[in-house]
Formats: sequence, C-alpha cells, structure tokens
Amino acid sequence: MLSFFRKRRRGRVLGPGARSRIASILARDLALWRTLSATERDRLCDLALVLIAEKRWEGCAGLTLTEEMRALIAAQAALLLMGFDLDPLTSPVYPNVRDVLVYPSGYFATTRRRDAMGVVHEGSPNLGEAWYGGPVIVSWEHAAHGARDGSDGRNLVLHEFAHKLDMLDGVVDGTPPLAGAAAYSTWRQVMNDAFARLRSARPGASVLVLDRYGATSPAEFFAVATEAFFERPREMREREPALYDTLAMYYRQDPAARGP
Ligand SMILES: [Zn+2]
Repeated sequence: MLSFFRKRRRGRVLGPGARSRIASILARDLALWRTLSATERDRLCDLALVLIAEKRWEGCAGLTLTEEMRALIAAQAALLLMGFDLDPLTSPVYPNVRDVLVYPSGYFATTRRRDAMGVVHEGSPNLGEAWYGGPVIVSWEHAAHGARDGSDGRNLVLHEFAHKLDMLDGVVDGTPPLAGAAAYSTWRQVMNDAFARLRSARPGASVLVLDRYGATSPAEFFAVATEAFFERPREMREREPALYDTLAMYYRQDPAARGP
C-alpha cells in the first residue's frame, strides 16, 4: 500500500518536464555527464529527482538553495546508485538520509575535539560530514567543484554519500551491505590489502591513486576509494586492479569503460 502511494507521488515527480530541466543543468555543470550513455543519463535524472523531492534540503549560514545546487548535489549522490537494482518509481533511495544540509563553503563543525596537545576545539573547519542516524552536510563550494571537475579524484558528495551506503548495515566500518558470504570474504581481503598498501606508502608516492586521507580508517578508505573509482577509474583499474574489480562488483558499474 505504501508503495502504491509512493509510486503515484513519484510518477508526478518524474514527469518529462522535470527530467528535461534537470538534464539541462547536469549537461552544463556535471562533468561526468558527458561520459554517460542516454540510458544512464535518464536513470541519473530519475534518481536525482527522487532525492530532491524526498529529502529535506536546507541551506545553512545564510545560503539560499537554488534548483541548480540541489540538482548537482543530488545527481552526484545518485551516481553511486545507478547500477543498483532500484526502481525509481518504488524503491527506497538512501533510506538512511532524511536531511541534506548545505553550507556556502567550509564551515565549523559543532563537535568538540581534543587535539594532540590536549586543546579542546569547539569546532574545526569542515567541508562535509555524514552523520550516522543524521544528516549529510556538504559545502556548496566543494560540491560544485566536484561536479565541474570529474577527474581530479576528489569528490566531496561521492565521499559523504559513500559513508551513508557504508552505514546501511548499522556499522561504520568501510563495508556496506553485500550479497552473500563469498562477497564479504573477497571484500575484506581486497580492502585490507589495499588499505595496508596506502598506509605504508611513502608520502608523495607517485603510484598512489587514492588520497592519503583514506589511510585514516577502513570507513574513510571506502569513501576515498569511491571518489577515485568514479573520478580516476582507468588509473585505479591499472594500479589497483583488485580494488577496482571489487568496487565495480559492488557498484555494478564499470566507469573505466565509459568515454573520456
Ligand atoms: Zn569521510
């Protein structure tokens, strides 16, 4: 019954007018748009429109959210979902995200942290966060950069929403829900090996396809690896083939095979 109402509501959200409006924004400002097939573009638009309609979007620190901002953030989040077995008319989409908060640029986190010298900071400059059981928070300046530059390997929105996928099984450990014991065993082995390589890599090592921030923890490793998987896929496939294959299996996408 729930899905009947959802289907009816989404049928209105996914009208041809809405799809062509968002497509024109993405064609202009989402760099990865050019690499997608027509079918993938339609799917990306549909999933992004659902995210725009069903999440609570809030501009913070005086930011007034525009249609373009919502479209570009939602589309980057939707990129992660494109290969999943989701029906845009009926499936839950990021069921663990209710709110998306957008700051104009870097902002001060509200959490208190104690640094190595024992100083407690009331806030630290932050570009984005994904709270377990809470919102996704992003800096618009950095989300916009991620949309417009699709090949520097850094992408704030992909990073934060990858954390949300990781959290779907209730644990923030760098392992999202997978299908079956064999998948978990491959995942652990491949991720542990690649994580260890990143941790032991010399600073500035030119072989790195992953940002060193990924060495912080397995959860950050998955988020950072997701950024590189979508933004530097051919490089990752060449330098970290097992990692690439494992992420391709999980996301059910092969970005290295897409156009330049
Ligand atoms: Zn992170």
